[in-house]
Amino acid sequence: MKVFSTVLILIFNFNIVAKTIVIDPGHGGDDHGAKRFLKLGKKKVLIAEKNLALDLAKKIKKRLEPTHKVYLTRTVDREVALMDRASIAEKLQADLFISVHINASSKKKPRGFETYYLDNHKDSAVKKVEELENNTGTFEGEELIIRQILTELLISKTVDTSKALARSIHGQVHKQVGRPYKMINRGVKPGLFFVLALAKRPAVLLEVGFLSNSKELKRMLSSEFQDRYAQAVADGINQYLKTKK
Ligand SMILES: [Zn+2]
Repeated sequence: MKVFSTVLILIFNFNIVAKTIVIDPGHGGDDHGAKRFLKLGKKKVLIAEKNLALDLAKKIKKRLEPTHKVYLTRTVDREVALMDRASIAEKLQADLFISVHINASSKKKPRGFETYYLDNHKDSAVKKVEELENNTGTFEGEELIIRQILTELLISKTVDTSKALARSIHGQVHKQVGRPYKMINRGVKPGLFFVLALAKRPAVLLEVGFLSNSKELKRMLSSEFQDRYAQAVADGINQYLKTKK
């Protein structure tokens, strides 16, 4: 069965040129990202964005591997600076960079999936997401200004390709995950995420769903959801690569 499905994948993707893709599971180590306790049966379990992001990133990698060279910025639970995540992409001369994150809100109700690419915007809700994901505590004064200039330069270089990649992945996630699970489609959005700027190549940041929404979190923890989500992301990437030729 496994051989059969591998052959099918190869036939389906035969006209896609192999690319180098870096998948970046957000956070790690002491940086948990979003976290909360969730009641599972009688137990209260601590759920952290870093772990869920790693599980999903590994599954995405597995689905892209038959066609592409795929690397993770971390394979275990350890802290990796945003700069180091970017240098991994640079060293490998990666074609694409995909950062995986789980959203959170101070309210219980917000839910849904969204996809970001690097660009300027005036959306105050997006600014809150940026604060969470850019929160590394190391950018101050001049360094911050230099990073902002770097970001401006990179936007003009990568915005078209990143936007197309974001739309392709988001479309597949909507079709294969959003619709069947009746998730809210929060759209493809511009955002100023340092990890996307530093990556210096077509890059997107995925916010899979809301950890702060109990129903959505339980769903994201299921292997069925994770498998479907990973497949959707892989299909979105391959679709983008096909149309780009
Ligand atoms: Zn995150």
